[in-house]
Amino acid sequence: MKSNSPIWHPFTQHAVQPDATLIASGEGAWLTTADGRRIFDAISSWWVVTHGHRHHHIMQAIKDQADRLDQVIFAGFTHEPAEKLARRLVAMTPPQLEYVFFSDSGSTAVEVALKMALGFWRHRGEKRTGILALEGAYHGDTIGGMSVGERGVFNAPYDPLLFDVERLPFPSAGREETTLRALGAACRRGGVAALIVEPLILGAGGMLIYAPEVLTEVKRVCETHGVLFIADEVMTGWGRTGTLFACEQARVTPDIACYSKGLTGGSLPLAVTLCRADIFDAHYSTDRSRTFFHSSSYTANPIACAAALANLEIWDKEPVLERVAAIARLHSLGLDRFRDDRRFTNVRQIGSIAALDLASGETGYLAGVGPRLYQGFLSRNLLVRPLGNTIYIMPPYCSEANELGMVYQAIADVIGEMP
Ligand SMILES: *Cc1c(COP(=O)(O)O)cnc(C)c1O
Repeated sequence: MKSNSPIWHPFTQHAVQPDATLIASGEGAWLTTADGRRIFDAISSWWVVTHGHRHHHIMQAIKDQADRLDQVIFAGFTHEPAEKLARRLVAMTPPQLEYVFFSDSGSTAVEVALKMALGFWRHRGEKRTGILALEGAYHGDTIGGMSVGERGVFNAPYDPLLFDVERLPFPSAGREETTLRALGAACRRGGVAALIVEPLILGAGGMLIYAPEVLTEVKRVCETHGVLFIADEVMTGWGRTGTLFACEQARVTPDIACYSKGLTGGSLPLAVTLCRADIFDAHYSTDRSRTFFHSSSYTANPIACAAALANLEIWDKEPVLERVAAIARLHSLGLDRFRDDRRFTNVRQIGSIAALDLASGETGYLAGVGPRLYQGFLSRNLLVRPLGNTIYIMPPYCSEANELGMVYQAIADVIGEMP
């Protein structure tokens, strides 16, 4: 039966999933439905919530800012929350990232990064327009984001409009050399403007992890050929992989970096694209045709910037990385019972993220088992949303041992019930 709501939900097949769960409130790692059921948010509400829902410091900052300034045009005008935030971001992100461009989502942060790269080469008078990306990558759902992401069922109808990129094989263990060789060959052919990567782990592509050493080497090859290295840290940023940013583990400084999901602690939409000074400088000219022509109406919304600043203060004051490390230890214990279980393969973890694949049956995003698992978890008051046959957990950092214990027990139970 069709739902009577006029809402068309994201990544939702309404014919299969007619009813959305009505949520009334959230607190810490828990959501509460309108009829009072409590649901554990094991995927941080699609990877955005870091410290927990409604962290008091962020909520207070939002309230305070709402009393002062709600929104203002960001061309020709600026405001204190954005100025402070930009300075703090430049200070805490890898050195060399000196300019901050604001937008509203991970997808727009990626679009901005691609446009920065193309503008850089054009204004320098070099004909470089090629983009390299990893197989299996996900960089958002706008046309540019889809173009650099993996092609498949998600974007088949739009394929005629997507631009071509050269794809490098995913550097799974043992295949690293293949990736590096493909990268070297592509760079030598010339015309490459930039490489875009999700550092250390492909998110929507199936929570696939690769070694930091590969990333270090990838950056080195890019540098050799003057290819800009774009780090899409939209999911990996803000502690998810055990360090503030994933690039740190590879000791890599990107030329352009995208951050979004956890930037406001998961409270309000906001994104930033940071870049090297020479990328800004290539656009810097009294010739107005060299302007960086990009904006969205709500660029650097003051309330969202205030929420992000409050998030950075939490990073200063609270032992956030210790919490992530504690979650990583709990993942390790929780995963132990599945390591020798033949029903699973690829048991893996990095920082606050844990994942495992169902060994038998279909694979891929449309694997029929995905929605059944989702329902199995939801009936146990857990929000777990498998990517096809991949079950993953990415909880808020305030999650506790007994809560994660409950999730791992549920994985055993739900799989036990599968026909
Ligand atoms: C989620 C995600 C995006 C897109 O972010 P939105 O805010 O959903 O537009 C881009 N890149 C990566 C790596 C992501 O995980």
